Amino acid sequence: SSPDIVLNVNGIEVIYNHVILVLKGVSLQVPEGRIVALLGGNGAGKTTTLRAISNLLKGERGEVTKGSIELRGERIENLSPADLVRRGVVQVMEGRHCFAHLTIEENLMTGAYTRSDRGEVAANLEKVYAYFPRLKTRRTSQAAYTSGGEQQMCAIGRALMANPSMVLLDEPSMGLAPQIVDEVFAIVKDLNEKERVTFLLAEQNTSMALRYADYGYILENGRVVMDGPAEGLRENEDVKEFYLGMG
Ligand code: ATP
Repeated sequence: SSPDIVLNVNGIEVIYNHVILVLKGVSLQVPEGRIVALLGGNGAGKTTTLRAISNLLKGERGEVTKGSIELRGERIENLSPADLVRRGVVQVMEGRHCFAHLTIEENLMTGAYTRSDRGEVAANLEKVYAYFPRLKTRRTSQAAYTSGGEQQMCAIGRALMANPSMVLLDEPSMGLAPQIVDEVFAIVKDLNEKERVTFLLAEQNTSMALRYADYGYILENGRVVMDGPAEGLRENEDVKEFYLGMG
């Protein structure tokens, strides 16, 4: 049987500053419990797609001008990012948004802001540490003095503190050594398999993303130009020629 569709993006158009058309009718679906990769080069529209889903376009002077976005059948275009967090959808932004002057643990705790049950939050923190033992070791370190990989882990861990069912993960490999990228993706896979967290993963690093994802969409210039199961995309000659080895 086919799994339920958690997220359904249907023909969205996004315009920045009233004039710059960046997404030209993007459609994609994310089934429950899967890892879906959103691939494509610099400027293809990956970040814009994630921002549209989590309603973070306004701050960038962008808006969805056509199409619809549904979470489990409910239209979400008008929900605030906080409403989405309450519905289990959390975005991890590109560039590892940790608070530099806070410790790793303080950063993680900021992710629990929508939750009031202290006992549950404490248990959640221990769970994050179980998945990211490096963060436990560094829990009292100021984020500014931790490595790029640790900051990326901290950003993901912070998202997990909201106890999400779905994480929108923007370019987790950015600026990280291949070995650390592998470590981060292995944890993502683990969270997906053991906690059933669904991921929509925007990545320029096509080969790495397709190693961990179930399904991929390739964006070019604001349009989906190809999509399919990860295994098929890995073997596809066009993908090999234009995307593998990139990132
Ligand atoms: P990257 O990997 O660089 O983040 P991307 O695939 O995520 O690339 P976007 O960041 O979504 O691409 O950018 C898509 C296009 O939208 C680019 O041409 C970019 O210059 C433009 N763009 C992004 N943000 C804005 C903004 N706030 N105002 C105007 N144009 C923008």
